[in-house]
Amino acid sequence: MARRAEDLRAGGSAPALVPTMGSLHEGHLSLIRLAATLSPAVVVSVFVNPTQFGPGEDFARYPRNLEADTRLAGSAGAGIVFAPEAADMYPEGFQTHVEVEEITRRLCGARRPGHFRGVATVVLKLFNIVRPGAAVFGEKDYQQLAVIRRMTRDLNLPVAIVAHPLVREADGLAMSSRNAYLAPDERIRAIALNRALGRGREAILSGERSAEAVRRAMTRVLDEAGGIGIEYVSVADPESLEEAREITGRTLLALAVKIGPTRLIDNMVVSPI
Ligand code: AMP
Repeated sequence: MARRAEDLRAGGSAPALVPTMGSLHEGHLSLIRLAATLSPAVVVSVFVNPTQFGPGEDFARYPRNLEADTRLAGSAGAGIVFAPEAADMYPEGFQTHVEVEEITRRLCGARRPGHFRGVATVVLKLFNIVRPGAAVFGEKDYQQLAVIRRMTRDLNLPVAIVAHPLVREADGLAMSSRNAYLAPDERIRAIALNRALGRGREAILSGERSAEAVRRAMTRVLDEAGGIGIEYVSVADPESLEEAREITGRTLLALAVKIGPTRLIDNMVVSPI
């Protein structure tokens, strides 16, 4: 991969990189199509990164479909699929990590210790191997995007970080490889995530300025759906990710829940009028 990347750069087209964990869906494909507008050479990495999973999380059963992924990535405009083995990425003796400090302590970071250290480290490794001019990330993983942006600025990485909006199913559920885990009744309940965000948005747009009241309104929607375990319901500053007390400007609504054993996240940024 590093050799191919060097050839591409020498030929005048630094690749556009789309890092993924595979099991590609329409959300990923939208990112790949955006990448294809940024460079004639699109690299999609497919790597289920063990270091970003905690003990008891779904690393072992995370869906893997490299053959289908390769076909789908190609049809969306990727020229190269880079799918390394864990042993290649983390050979014996590996001991260097990237720690992005403050913003990784909030939201998902507070519940998944070590997760963003794993993400930042593997993304920096991918940048160094693929040497992209641009890399595309989805707003579905809002905090991840913020962490990568911070790392890129802090470490002067010569990569343009490009965001793609969150892609949803027709009924509003955020597309995710993990949606495949949901049983039919769980899939129906999962619509409550987007509904809860919508309720939060309505509250803000109709003048609610207490962040706690907005959190409560969102929580109520999730509670009413039944069978949803709430990890967090967050009303936060979209830059620092700090929890808000009062709504004064652009606001991040974010939530993480468990439906059965499946962990799902969703978010929306709202501007009060
Ligand atoms: P993943 O394979 O889940 O690690 O995701 C790889 C990339 O695709 C990340 O930048 C995600 O934010 C992005 N992505 C995944 N699902 C969606 C979605 N529904 N909408 C937009 N981007 C997404």
